[in-house]
This record gives sequence, C-alpha cells and structure tokens, in this order.
Amino acid sequence: MSELGPVRAEMRSRTRSDTRTDGGSAPASPGRVLSLIAGGSAETRADIARLTGLARSTVSQRVDALIAHGLLDEPTETGAGGRRLSRRLRLRTRDQLVLGVGLGATHGRVSLLDVAGAELATDEEPLRVADGPERVLGRVVVLAHQLLEAVGQPPSVLRAIGVGLPGPVEFRAGQPVDPPIMPGWHRFPVPAFLTTRLGAATLVDNDVNLMALAERRRHLPDAAHLLFVKMGTGIGCGIIAGGQLHRGARGSAGDIGHIRVGTDETPCRCGNLGCLEATVGGAALARRLSTPEAPLTSTIEVATLVKSGDREAVRLVREAGRSVGEVLSGLVNFFNPEAVVFGGALAAAHDQLLAGVREVVYRRSHPLATRNLRIEPSQSGRDAVALGAGLLAIDHALSPEQVNEALLTATR
Ligand SMILES: [Zn+2]
Repeated sequence: MSELGPVRAEMRSRTRSDTRTDGGSAPASPGRVLSLIAGGSAETRADIARLTGLARSTVSQRVDALIAHGLLDEPTETGAGGRRLSRRLRLRTRDQLVLGVGLGATHGRVSLLDVAGAELATDEEPLRVADGPERVLGRVVVLAHQLLEAVGQPPSVLRAIGVGLPGPVEFRAGQPVDPPIMPGWHRFPVPAFLTTRLGAATLVDNDVNLMALAERRRHLPDAAHLLFVKMGTGIGCGIIAGGQLHRGARGSAGDIGHIRVGTDETPCRCGNLGCLEATVGGAALARRLSTPEAPLTSTIEVATLVKSGDREAVRLVREAGRSVGEVLSGLVNFFNPEAVVFGGALAAAHDQLLAGVREVVYRRSHPLATRNLRIEPSQSGRDAVALGAGLLAIDHALSPEQVNEALLTATR
C-alpha cells in the first residue's frame, strides 16, 4: 500500500475542484458524505456534521449506510490505558479496486489500483492494437483476471474500469471514432465488451487526456490549468481546465496536430495540407531524417539520434519545437495555462525540443500569460496512460452519483 500523504493531497485536490454540482453532490447525500472523507476534509462524524450542517442522527444514518455497504471503515482506536479515542472514518480500500488499462500502438499495460490510488499489481506486454478490439480486449480480460488472482481478490471487488486508447474517443459513448491506427475499432462498444466480462462500469478516453490527468494528479496538483502535449508519431494535447479534464462537446478537444502552421504544404493523413503533425510529428521527422543507407522508422529513433548529437537531427527537432511553439503561443494567449508539459517519444529529446518551443512562446505570447508559465518535460513515466485510466475509474467509482446509486440499489 502506498503512503497516505500524497494520496490524500491528490484526493483533496480532486474534491476541491472536480466535484460536480448536480443532485448527487447535495450536502445531505451519502455520496457527498463519502467524498468528504475520501477527499480528506472530514475524518470523524463530528467533522461531517460541522461541514454539512446535518443533524448528528442524520450523519450517523449516512455513515452507517456507507459502512454497511463496504465503502467506509471505522476502526476502533484505543489510546493509552485502553481509553477509547474518537473514531476516525476511512475510505475502505482493501476490497474496492479499479482497473486501469493503457493501450498503445504496440503494447498494453493493465494495472490494479485500490480506490485510494495505490497501485497493487501491474502487467505489461506487447499487444498490437491493429489486431482489432476483440483480440486486444480479450487479452486485457485475461490479464485482469491474472492480476486479481495475484492479489487474492475475486472480480466482484472491481468498482470501475478505465481504458486509454491511442486515437479519438467519443467519451460519453466510450467508443473510438475513426481512429487512424486502429483498424476494426471504429464505434466498437468497448464498455459493453469489458463490463460483460469483468462486471464493472467501463470508461474510455484517449491516451493523451489520461496522460494529462495522471500528470496533474501525481506531479502538478496545483496546476488547475494545464496543457499536456504528446509528441509521438502524431501530436495531440490533453487539456485540464479549472482542475478538470476538458474534452469539448464530443471528445475531440485538444486535437492540435491538425492546426495549420507556417507555409508548409505537406499533405496530412486528415486530407488537409500543412498540418502541424504532417510537418513536425515524429513520423514526419523520421521521414525527413531518413537516408537510403539509414532509414528511420520510429519516433524513438529520432529522439535517440538527437540525444547522440547528430547535427541535422538536432537542427530539425529544434525547428520542430519552434513550429509547435507557434501553435502553442496562440493557445497560451487563449487559454492562459499555468504549465505546458511535454510527453511522448519525442519528448525524450526535450532539451532541443523545448528550447525551440520556449523561444517562440515567450516571444509571441502575451507577457501576462507567460509571466509564471512553466514549459517542461513530463515527470510521468511510461505508465502514465494506465495510471490515468485508473484515476478516471476511481473518480467514477467514488463520484457521489455512483455512490448514491449503489446505496439505492442495495436497499431496493
Ligand atoms: Zn491534418
């Protein structure tokens, strides 16, 4: 189990800024009472009474229902000489787990977390997303069962599942929409497939959104306005606005790879000319750096070449940074983030890339927007998508609406 300090801080930052304002979070509801405990703002029944204004008897009803439903623990603590201390309420974690699934073009990672965010078990293996949804998700189900077995828990402890996919996703439906590198996945019902086999609600999002979520929760809890730019084969951006993921009306917010930049006329896979991604995405850079003797096939190879000091690669990546900076300078003026964070395979060459970005953004964006702006490489590791997917699942499992619904169902 992880130390509670960071988890608490992380959850506090979530409840403070991510709490929805609909019926489920009305101060009187059991779901709202649970979120006060989970977020660390209440530890005892007395705290809850004070924070909600509820009568003590009502608080007891709510708390007893949450304990009976296995969502809260109230361990008896005794002080010196056997004196009973006031009892502290705790989120029950031991049999409340979620699954975080991160799928990339060629690998998959599945992690089991408890609802306080501690990672209990994880597994990663080569998995080609192009093999299609049934095969890939079928394998995810097998890995999930293995992880549950490894921690000695039955599938019934799963409260939610989060999945990150390397393509556009319509979040509400949980379906990929025309994903370019995922043949056979268009409109595939991912939630139905996993929920039928694993018995928990499934949420699906695109990978860069989940990387943004993981970065903010784990490393930048104070950055309520954050852009996470993924520089891989393509280019995408996850947006945290006011502490929450901003997905836009249908889930396509942050698709910055297809903003036109400069006067370049390179055709893009989207059908337009001169898109940022077509000009300086990892695939484009690999193509431009390839020679007949030494062809480059991946973004990782581009980053490696830059790190080895290859002059042409360094020049190109720095120039790529300037092009990205050109797009970002407009976004920074428009959105005024506290931080712009770079991840993805090309970000491994961040010294050169970010030098180009900073050069343009600090010159072209408004001084008020850049005064305290941080432009930096991501601190998350390669587990960011699976972790972000797990955090998304926890948000869902602990949301007041879900908790109220679960309690209602249990008393019906
Ligand atoms: Zn395009």
